[in-house]
Amino acid sequence: MFVEYNDQNVFAKILRGEIPANKISEDEHTLVFHDAFPKAKIHVLIIPKKPYISFQDFSHKAFSEEIISFNRMIGNVAASLGLDITGYRLLTNHGAHSGQEVPHFHMHLCGGEPLGPLLSKQ
Ligand code: AMP
Repeated sequence: MFVEYNDQNVFAKILRGEIPANKISEDEHTLVFHDAFPKAKIHVLIIPKKPYISFQDFSHKAFSEEIISFNRMIGNVAASLGLDITGYRLLTNHGAHSGQEVPHFHMHLCGGEPLGPLLSKQ
């Protein structure tokens, strides 16, 4: 479980421009880029620009404007990729049981093909 924000995480480095990302869109509060190791034909990550560790942190601390930006961005990017027609899955990991790897809040947006069951256990 991540309790304090670690500014050496890979998405913080992308936000600072220290490492490259295949960017799709951004606004004042939110950045969208392709996942470097896609788990679906289309696998995009949506992240807030401010340092939130996970959804739990974001949902408690983010201002309304950031939350609106984040949610609208997801819908807009999904539509720009044609996923509003074919369908998509949103997923975010928080904490130990989820297996969250990068401790900067991010939403996975996956689609472009049938995605199968929600969890590998099923
Ligand atoms: P999570 O397990 O929910 O924390 O997901 C982290 C995601 O970040 C994984 O899907 C990784 O493939 C992805 N990832 C790791 N490093 C990079 C990177 N440099 N650029 C883009 N995506 C990355």
